Amino acid sequence: MDTMSLLKFNSEQWMRFSDYELRTDANGQRYIVPTEDAVGSMYVPAEHAREIMLDAVEIGKQLTKDLPVEVVEGLILGFVRRHGVLGIMPELPMNDNFAEVKQTSLSESWFFQAGVAPTEQYIGMFFPFNKEMAETIPGSLSIAALSGREPVYELVFSRYYGEKVQWIATYLYELFRCFFAYLNFDNEDDAELRANSRKIIAEFPKHKMRYGINSDARLSVHFTSLKALIDFAFTISVTNSEKPMKMCKHCNKIYYNENARSEFCSGRCRNQWNVYKSRGNKNKGE
Ligand SMILES: [Zn+2]
Repeated sequence: MDTMSLLKFNSEQWMRFSDYELRTDANGQRYIVPTEDAVGSMYVPAEHAREIMLDAVEIGKQLTKDLPVEVVEGLILGFVRRHGVLGIMPELPMNDNFAEVKQTSLSESWFFQAGVAPTEQYIGMFFPFNKEMAETIPGSLSIAALSGREPVYELVFSRYYGEKVQWIATYLYELFRCFFAYLNFDNEDDAELRANSRKIIAEFPKHKMRYGINSDARLSVHFTSLKALIDFAFTISVTNSEKPMKMCKHCNKIYYNENARSEFCSGRCRNQWNVYKSRGNKNKGE
């Protein structure tokens, strides 16, 4: 069974603006925020969970290279333009009601150190160009309520909500690092790589999960963020016994194929690999 079908009936919506831009805050931090005249619209990311996840891991792979800052920023901006922001603000606090209380407890994550921060300061980090937003949570009949989410999503879906380029880059990089570890957790030739890889995959973030039954008697899973959806799609892919998530032997593209014998992302890559291989053999005088 394709475990990705677990997501097929998930109709939860996510916000994506028509355009985003890079801006620098007063402390010199680079952020991605919607452009001033961008229009927001909702979409159902679970319908594209696999594609979004593969896109995330593929960009993470690019980030392992030594790239100029502009190229990194372009990759991250492209990702957000295609799928929206990660939405990590409501996901990371340990206290679910953080927006209603004065203190926010954070556990250790790829983004923050463990500790307690004043909630206003925590939320303020996501509103670098409009600090007043962090102090108000609008009431009902809002976009958050209409999409079936808690009031705090009014902030996440607002045009003033932004995420640091560094946060998104760290996430995509770590996601690829976990994928690479997954490819090597049973490496028989390199015991050290195998041990490190096993450690890295076991440290993949744990999620609190909310789930239920929808009106069509199907499983419905609640995702606190786009990141949580990507993490879920990644988790069910790498734990699938068919090992459908692979890296192409010829071009290194990350792709999904449930055929256990598949080694190439496309027929073209398989043909090119065979051509190079036969040429290589000829050069050796065979
Ligand atoms: Zn390929």
